[in-house]
Amino acid sequence: MIGLQPEGDIDWSSYRGVMVFVEQRNGQAKPVSWQLIGEATRLAAKLNVKVMALVIGWQVSELAEESIYHGADEVYVCDSKELEHYRTRPYSRVCLHVIRKYKPEIVLMGATNTGRDLAGAIATHLPTGLTADSTQLDVDEERLLLASRPAFSEKMLATILCKQFKPQMATARAGVFEQLPRDTTRTGEVIQVPPQMDPGEIATEMIEFLETKGSVNLAEAEVIVAGGRGLGGPAAFEMLKELADELGGVVGASRAVVDLGWIGHDHQVGQTGVTVRPKLYFAIGISGAVQHVVGMQNSSYIVAINKDANAPIFKIANYAIVGDLFQIIPAIIQAVRTRKLERLQLLKY
Ligand SMILES: Cc1cc2nc3c(=O)[nH]c(=O)nc-3n(C[C@H](O)[C@H](O)[C@H](O)COP(=O)(O)OP(=O)(O)OC[C@H]3O[C@@H](n4cnc5c(N)ncnc54)[C@H](O)[C@@H]3O)c2cc1C
Repeated sequence: MIGLQPEGDIDWSSYRGVMVFVEQRNGQAKPVSWQLIGEATRLAAKLNVKVMALVIGWQVSELAEESIYHGADEVYVCDSKELEHYRTRPYSRVCLHVIRKYKPEIVLMGATNTGRDLAGAIATHLPTGLTADSTQLDVDEERLLLASRPAFSEKMLATILCKQFKPQMATARAGVFEQLPRDTTRTGEVIQVPPQMDPGEIATEMIEFLETKGSVNLAEAEVIVAGGRGLGGPAAFEMLKELADELGGVVGASRAVVDLGWIGHDHQVGQTGVTVRPKLYFAIGISGAVQHVVGMQNSSYIVAINKDANAPIFKIANYAIVGDLFQIIPAIIQAVRTRKLERLQLLKY
């Protein structure tokens, strides 16, 4: 950290282990938590240390087990009614207590709204450095965390180090790292942690939780139907929405159409948008520029529809459909509906 020096001689060698904050809502872990435990396992193997998970919430003991199944060796659990919904102070007090007592050398969180808020609050209090929005993580022979993230208008990748403080902290984008296969034969240690604030000390009160209407959660979607400039205008997104609804998915977009104002920025996939890892990704009227591809190339199946047989998107597509999207998409919607009807009729008999 620039300008800040540790006070006195601190023996950082007692800090060992890679800790992941397991973010959850209503007892459901965010996929980024498992992805980060997967990445922590790789870093921990290089450092020859354990993977630690930190679970905070209410009635979250199942998540402790799940953390172990996903790769954690030790899980710290703070389970209390007061922690049912995320609030900065009670959550950060628990994190600070666990970090100071159990001394992980690296702490990772998802670059979600909660992760960004919590990581900042903790890093300021410890104090230590924090790299936000990392897209690559590694460690060097001096046990330093190499946290890389796009910088200078996303034109280059900057690797940021925290040399003088521990733990080294980073938030990381969802969809970038790979989770390990869930292994129910794994075992680990679960350590219960008491809440660090009395209910009366907490200045904020949760009255009601309201989901934002109209926003899209691309990072967690299993099916994404994404459109680009080939749609010719905003109206064609209605057709994509129809297909996405039929498949239980959401609508994504290239930056070109976001810049044109055809759809909101929260739909943008790519380097300056969201990195996604759905089971099925439709790239419709999208050329396949590298800045788009980096954000969706890890999708399990990619279906590309483009009238140009030489469009770069076809190089990474599992299914390539060459033709006019205005003929192809209605045909696909019709086929999906017919298949659904056939299945319903089969169920009747
Ligand atoms: C620093 C930086 C960051 C960037 N970040 C991102 C990012 O995060 N995400 C992103 O997407 N881009 C990003 N870009 C922009 C990127 O370089 C491309 O310009 C953009 O992805 C192109 O969008 P597109 O594929 O929709 O448009 P185009 O490249 O114009 O492609 C349109 C495609 O539609 C096809 N088409 C046209 N009509 C039809 C039809 N009727 N039927 C079928 N196909 C048809 C065409 O053949 C063409 O291939 C970034 C650029 C920079 C410089």
